[in-house]
Amino acid sequence: MQRLKTIKGTHDILPGDIHRWQQIETVLRRVFEVYAYREIRTPVFENTALFARGVGEFSDIVSKEMYTFTDKGGESLTLRPELTASVARSFIQHHFQQDAPLHKLWYMGPLFRQERPQAGRQRQFHQFGIEVIGSPYPEADAEVITVACRIYRELGLKHWELQINSIGSPDTRKHYIEILKKTLDPYKKDLCDTCRERFEGNILRLFDCKNPECAEVMQTKAPSILDHLSDEDSRHFEEVKALLSALQIEFTINPALVRGLDYYTRTTFEIKGTALGAQDALCGGGRYDGLISDLDGPETPAVGFAAGMERLVIAMEAEHLFDQQEKSIDLYIAPMNKDHLLAVMPLINRLREKGFIVHAELLRRSVKAMLRDANRQNTRWTAVVGDLELEKKELNLKNMRDNTQQTLSWEKVENVLTQNPE
Ligand code: AMP
Repeated sequence: MQRLKTIKGTHDILPGDIHRWQQIETVLRRVFEVYAYREIRTPVFENTALFARGVGEFSDIVSKEMYTFTDKGGESLTLRPELTASVARSFIQHHFQQDAPLHKLWYMGPLFRQERPQAGRQRQFHQFGIEVIGSPYPEADAEVITVACRIYRELGLKHWELQINSIGSPDTRKHYIEILKKTLDPYKKDLCDTCRERFEGNILRLFDCKNPECAEVMQTKAPSILDHLSDEDSRHFEEVKALLSALQIEFTINPALVRGLDYYTRTTFEIKGTALGAQDALCGGGRYDGLISDLDGPETPAVGFAAGMERLVIAMEAEHLFDQQEKSIDLYIAPMNKDHLLAVMPLINRLREKGFIVHAELLRRSVKAMLRDANRQNTRWTAVVGDLELEKKELNLKNMRDNTQQTLSWEKVENVLTQNPE
């Protein structure tokens, strides 16, 4: 029989790698906290209609990438392919708008998209992100962008750049899409099959095509959306840019940055990892003033971003930003036999209650085997426990870094464990 393995495009995050994720998560939590964002967790599956309506039927996500299934009750359910629609659903369902005029939320969790797996692209991947719900003002756009930049800066990442754009209000965009279609119609024959397919339903996606002929057409023939913004759209964009400059955030303007999802209005932005390969988008976001009302909620302006964890891990590895090792074990207790283990258990318990990382033997190994294991496991101190140690209520602590030894009463052990071993 074939051995069971992870599904294509999904990965285990193994114990030897998890400290990298935790290192990132600690920084994320701290940054979200200082900007006063509150965490929200929503289910991994939702009604299919949420994404079909929220993200848009013509988006790549909905048209071909969703994991959709019918459950035993006959309902169509989908593993969430993104989180903004879920957060919007939760906002509406729980009447958030009645509690306060502004909600600043953050999230982190797994998402599912049936894409072709490659480096930096998986079928189950993880995102963190924020949503500011309730403010129509450029200050909110600027804060969201600042939080994203702050995270990469705080993590020590050097090779990234911020690109921003405005795709205007829905009316502006509708008007621009008509102009785009008219202008590009003569070149339709030069486009790839996918772009020709997208021409009617989602022409903005043509900006994202990597095919050189399509890219050439878009670069040379497509009008810039920035030339078609309404006065109000322009003012909003100018203010976002001014705020970012005041906050000393560097950016470039990329009029081709339209993003594939239907719900964006006005500001869009992306952070690209400049040392990553083809999958270089670390983070993407923007304003989505129409989403909550499109989902039958109250008219509520909002802005947010979502960022990939896996690509961030790749980028940080490339820049050698991870701490070298997993957390070390403070004390490895090596009892001569199981009775010794039982007798020293009160001490082990007390030390663990105080927060020390203590290993207690579970394999009844010989002292020699345990000490070999302690060596392999990045241990600060080891102590062999036999009759003498029990009788005197002492431990003979061996410093694994410099091989020095000292004998201490059980009460005093923690004083030594708190000392820096190096
Ligand atoms: P999106 O929701 O498509 O705007 O994606 C936001 C971020 O999530 C991207 O910038 C990537 O960092 C990450 N991301 C999106 N799709 C995938 C995927 N299939 N595998 C890994 N990361 C992804």
